Amino acid sequence: MAPEMRTTGDADVPARRRGLTLGEALLEDIANVGHGVLRDAHPPRACKPVSRPVVLVVAGTRPECIKLVPVIRELGRRQALSALVIGSGQHPEAVRRTFGEFGIRPDHELPPLVAMPNLRTAAWQLISSLAEAIGEYQPALVLVQGDTLTAYAGARAGVRARREVVHVEAGLRTPSVADPFPEEWFRRRIAGHATYHFAPSASAHANLLAEGVPPERIHNVGNTGIDTLRALLHGDDHGNERHRATRTTVLVTLHRRENWDGKADIVCDALLDLVAARPELGIVLPVHPNPRVATRLKRRLGGRPRIALVAPMNYREFIATAAGAALLISDSGGVQEEAPHLGAPVLVPRSCTERPEAIDTGFVRLVPVEREVMLQTALDILAAPRAAPVPFDSSAPFGDGTAATRIVDVLEAVLVARNDA
Ligand code: UDP
Repeated sequence: MAPEMRTTGDADVPARRRGLTLGEALLEDIANVGHGVLRDAHPPRACKPVSRPVVLVVAGTRPECIKLVPVIRELGRRQALSALVIGSGQHPEAVRRTFGEFGIRPDHELPPLVAMPNLRTAAWQLISSLAEAIGEYQPALVLVQGDTLTAYAGARAGVRARREVVHVEAGLRTPSVADPFPEEWFRRRIAGHATYHFAPSASAHANLLAEGVPPERIHNVGNTGIDTLRALLHGDDHGNERHRATRTTVLVTLHRRENWDGKADIVCDALLDLVAARPELGIVLPVHPNPRVATRLKRRLGGRPRIALVAPMNYREFIATAAGAALLISDSGGVQEEAPHLGAPVLVPRSCTERPEAIDTGFVRLVPVEREVMLQTALDILAAPRAAPVPFDSSAPFGDGTAATRIVDVLEAVLVARNDA
């Protein structure tokens, strides 16, 4: 494990004990939680009578919703299956709002995570409540998306209830389990629990093969987030949003754990430098609701001229703003996938990415979280000519926008064959 990942003063980390690193301590805690939940799992209630096999779709955060919308819609179109959508309670407001934008309402909302003193407690609560819901609904499959706490808890609860787990956006990897943490750890663990692995890209597919996942269990289908984006940009999913940004807007998002605290301050200082160096620029920053990030950003950037700290945007508004912006600065995973199709350059203040294809498009540039380097790289990008957006075709890095159909084709075939057996 990289020496820089040794535990710091992070209040979320329960263990300096025994000299464990941040990663090691949390891995141990969460692994133990899982075994506890197995013991304490709520016994299944009586089965609901269902005529079609149910795919239980678990969502807990905004990006999961955005990427699950096309899957839920596609499941709804099939005669042989039915979808049941569970809001995990991780970010209940964001789930309601994001699904609401697409006309979807969760069928069942689990109790909100009241407070998150640490990941261990949060994992405990989510696994317990998801295990209970799985017991209640008796789905044929449990489907999780990505690398969130919710996805991890859903996979864990599914396996404990002896259900097959479907992992959408499987196989993204960085070299170290500690970076980004906890996302990298969650996705590696989910891979160990899943039966069906839907890879969003060629590199993700290769990663799963290299880890020994049986080839017949992996399907390289593309990223369902690209389905959502394509539907919006190509008019299947009409939005009323106009491009809100001008080429003088820099759109910024920051939320990852690795950019909390001191790192957030450095990013803020680089943003202040940028507006000072280029007086025509204005920054728009939808502030993530996590208080750990929000407080820091507001303290450093609040009230500054040409810096607008705004509430999280709805998806259509965000995409419209990103498409019109001069530059994006973001540590988001989803933004790296979307930006090449918007023709928008992105500066990613992170040490690594699990999306190497995004770098290959030329639109996405990793930059260390260092004030001067960030400023200079941003100025260089702004001075460079802008390339044409990447089309949604078979050469697109994260698929052509039809991933959900491919996923549901596979699931339907599995469940129909099982019913016929
Ligand atoms: N997004 C949004 N509103 C915002 C900021 C981002 O709808 O104010 C969308 C963005 O288009 C992308 C997703 O949210 O689809 C990214 O979410 P986030 O950065 O929270 O998570 P990550 O992608 O890193 O998992």
